[in-house]
Amino acid sequence: MNGEGESSDDEKVRRLERRVERERAARHEAEKLLEQKSTELYHANQKLIALAEGLEQRVVERTQELVTARENAVRLAERDQLTGLANRMCFTRLLTEAIEGWSVGNHRFALLFIDLDRFKEINDTVGHDAGDAVLQHAAAMIKKAIRGHDIVARLGGDEFAVICNFIESPRDVERVAERIMVEFQNALGFRGRTLPVACSIGSAVVPDDACNMIDLQRFADIALYRSKASGRSVHTPFSATMNEEIHQRQTLENALRLALRNGDIEPWYQPIRSVSAGDTVAAEVLARWRKADGSIATPDKFIRVLEECGLMRELFVSVLSASCRAARPWVEQQRLQYLSVNVSPGQFKLGSLLDDVTDILECTGFPHNALQLEITEEALIYDLHAVSSQLEELKQRGVRIALDDFGSGYSSIGYLRRLPIHTLKLDRSLISDVATDVRARAIVSAIGEIAKAIGVELVAEGVETEAQALWLGRAGCDLLQGYLFGRPVSRATFEEGLLRSQPEHLTA
Ligand code: C2E
Ligand code: CA
Ligand code: CA
Repeated sequence: MNGEGESSDDEKVRRLERRVERERAARHEAEKLLEQKSTELYHANQKLIALAEGLEQRVVERTQELVTARENAVRLAERDQLTGLANRMCFTRLLTEAIEGWSVGNHRFALLFIDLDRFKEINDTVGHDAGDAVLQHAAAMIKKAIRGHDIVARLGGDEFAVICNFIESPRDVERVAERIMVEFQNALGFRGRTLPVACSIGSAVVPDDACNMIDLQRFADIALYRSKASGRSVHTPFSATMNEEIHQRQTLENALRLALRNGDIEPWYQPIRSVSAGDTVAAEVLARWRKADGSIATPDKFIRVLEECGLMRELFVSVLSASCRAARPWVEQQRLQYLSVNVSPGQFKLGSLLDDVTDILECTGFPHNALQLEITEEALIYDLHAVSSQLEELKQRGVRIALDDFGSGYSSIGYLRRLPIHTLKLDRSLISDVATDVRARAIVSAIGEIAKAIGVELVAEGVETEAQALWLGRAGCDLLQGYLFGRPVSRATFEEGLLRSQPEHLTA
């Protein structure tokens, strides 16, 4: 029993041991597999990490490339190609930053506008290569003159700008401007010739003069304009009175435009007297501005402004049509032989003179041969050929031409040969001296001889005394004009005067 019992127990134990062994083997297998799979997973993971890192690196590199490319593009877009200076775009950004910087940190700074003097002349006469060399030279000189924390830019053409940072007093701006001027004393050697380079400077300070971009630039520009007007090669700091003057000028310009539109600039008439007949035979048309308050302004108050605004053609058209309309009856009734109307030198450049005159004569029915146009030598300096062909055309149509202010400028006798001139008007400055100055007498007598010899009518302007009138008549003047015979007067007053004096053929 025992033996049987023992053997079955042993059997059980062995079976148990075998099972335990199998299970251990199986677990070992499983653990080995698990370990193998973990290793694989680990490697796979490592690969993935490496891959991801590689990708990330590429992305970083690529981004860096793009940033650099963009920075280069911005740098290029903000550089002036010719001089390598900051360009207008960059300047605008830097100026904006400077103004923001002021509002945050209260750093006072100045804006300098620099404009080269007579650059156009060099560019036009010596050539564009020379122009480029001048601009590069100017850029280098400005760079040399400014301080380390200042910024220089080329705004375009021959305009440069400097932002002068950390200004303590106006004297600092003055010093920088002076240094620039001193640098500019170095002329530029170009292909064996010496090119003088000079500049004008205008400046405005933040916050003393302005605290915003628009005013700051406008004020620096006004100051620069003042430098140019005062004979160039100077620095002008902006001052508040300039702004006031600009405002007044703007108001004057607007008032003049309105006056022209409303016909408030009207022709007045000054008699021109014949020496032989002793009577008024012609009239010079002189513009007068009848203002809203009833006062009358003379040309010295408005002609220059009209010229600067390019409104001389408008003035001419307005004055010529009104005077032709007014004077037509005077001419038809033979009370007046002709009207003499001033032409501004700039009108020849416009090339519209011929058409304007023809149109007005047609519209008003005014006889061509009763119109005289007064031109000055200034018109001839512009382009003698172009002017003389326009004058020739006018002459063909019967219009008379007078050379005005003769004896006040260059008075080239050559003009008398080359131009179809009918009348010569001796300048007032010569006339005022004839009573006392032997040289003035000699000159007037000689011109009188020439005029007679070449068949040109001679008029003396600005005759104020009987003595002058007497002497001028003897010296060969055909006609006299001046306060002695009458000042410029309105249409009604002039007409009254004409009616009072009977025309020559009626009294004969
Ligand atoms: P201007 O053409 O030499 O005209 C003669 C000027 O001398 C006029 O001045 C006239 O009033 C003045 N005058 C005449 N006689 C005497 C005199 O005996 N003594 C003195 N001291 N002055 C005398 P005004 O009218 O002031 O005109 C000045 C200038 O303005 C004119 O000089 C002319 O250049 C210009 N101007 C006037 N009206 C016109 C116009 O309609 N068109 C253009 N383009 N210019 C005009
Ligand atoms: Ca005149
Ligand atoms: Ca004159």
